[in-house]
Amino acid sequence: MTLRLYDTATRSVRPLAPLQAGQVGVYVCGPTVQAPPHVGHLRSAVALDVLHRWLLASGFMVTFVRNVTDVDDKILHDAAHTAEPWWALATRTTRAFHRAYDAVQVLPPTGEPRVTGSIASITALIERIISRGHAYASGGDVYLAVRTAPGYGQLSGQDPDQLRASDKAVAHGHTGTKRDPLDFALWKAAKPGEPSWSSPWGPGRPGWHIECSAMAVDHLGESFDIHAGGIDLVFPHHENEVAQSRAAGHGFAQHWLHHGLVTVAGGAEKMSKSLGNGTLVDDVLTEVRPQVLRYVLGAGHYRSPLEWSPAAVADGEAAYGRIETFVRNATDAVGDQPVDEALAKASWEEFAAALDDDLSVPQALAAVHSAVRVGNALLAAGEPPALAATLSVVRRMLTVLALDPVGQWPSAAGGDLRGVVDTLVALAVEARADARAAKDWVRADALRDRLTAAGIVLEDIVVDGVAGVRWRLAGHDR
Ligand SMILES: [Zn+2]
Repeated sequence: MTLRLYDTATRSVRPLAPLQAGQVGVYVCGPTVQAPPHVGHLRSAVALDVLHRWLLASGFMVTFVRNVTDVDDKILHDAAHTAEPWWALATRTTRAFHRAYDAVQVLPPTGEPRVTGSIASITALIERIISRGHAYASGGDVYLAVRTAPGYGQLSGQDPDQLRASDKAVAHGHTGTKRDPLDFALWKAAKPGEPSWSSPWGPGRPGWHIECSAMAVDHLGESFDIHAGGIDLVFPHHENEVAQSRAAGHGFAQHWLHHGLVTVAGGAEKMSKSLGNGTLVDDVLTEVRPQVLRYVLGAGHYRSPLEWSPAAVADGEAAYGRIETFVRNATDAVGDQPVDEALAKASWEEFAAALDDDLSVPQALAAVHSAVRVGNALLAAGEPPALAATLSVVRRMLTVLALDPVGQWPSAAGGDLRGVVDTLVALAVEARADARAAKDWVRADALRDRLTAAGIVLEDIVVDGVAGVRWRLAGHDR
């Protein structure tokens, strides 16, 4: 079976037909690095990581490009209100995004172009569009003449005549004069105090939409297979990308893939940084294990909205916990048992068919959970050959989803053991206190020495007037 994906442009699920056999080029609109990532950003990354990993697992050579918008109005606005230079803010935030992606094992992209590193390509693309008669300079700005772009509105299913009345489509704050309210800026003339680059139209910086058209073509060519992003980007961002790329004579994306957004507060509000709500990835990871976060963000269908709530996290922890327990117990039970792959072929086929059907992760996970149930029965019945085959297919499926507790999350046990160590150290501390109470100094010192030898440092502390002891690992500050 071949991979079929929903295509926003045709509003249908249709087969992916790579331009070059065996190769797939994907362009993803990456983050604007204004503020640290929240779970909405990570949902996007995980959803598209499933696409990336399934393409690789299906044998394609994948060129996966995800840009970084490292200069824009919001970044400049925020930096202007602090002593931090705009480029330092962008660099620091880019690192925060990388840490978040790494934390949930999102594969790094093949290429990660930044806007500030792509200015030459962007100005060259704008010149090309002007020379073909689809853009014009005005007062140091350059605008796309939207009415000359054939098929404008097709991607988002809108009629340009209806858009004319919409305020949302009308850009503002530019120095030049637009010929038509629908026209949008490809290049924005420099404003005092803002960074700028030289161009044939004077100093300035690129508009948002043109960046992606230029970076995509730079890395993937004038026509490429898949353009992906959040559903909130269909209009105006992607509609405008199509318009300017076609105006440049480029075939551009063959397939448009959009994922749903994360919602909070009963699904009513799209998550944005203004909501806060403890949804920053760094905050979430202090309470949720990264593999569980990955499970929660990736378990639904990528096109559906995902509601972020404590209940969703608890459900994810329980569901992933069932998988982890089986994989660990079965791994211990089967040892070096040879694996007969044919025994579990049906599970893999069910899993593969689900992902081939528009990346249906819910169906794919149903195959995983059903194999886990079968595996648990085999574990109880003590049937090593069939158990080994089931464990093997479960781990193979989990690997595609970056959820294998053994191969991909080997440190998971360490995270689980903190509570266990707490209890054991507390027992040793109690024994030492008993020894001291009995004035058995030799035994008390010996207990402390054994903990020290194990790399555990005890510290006497007072909490709310009560004396106690806490522990830390030698060389680690708490
Ligand atoms: Zn974009």
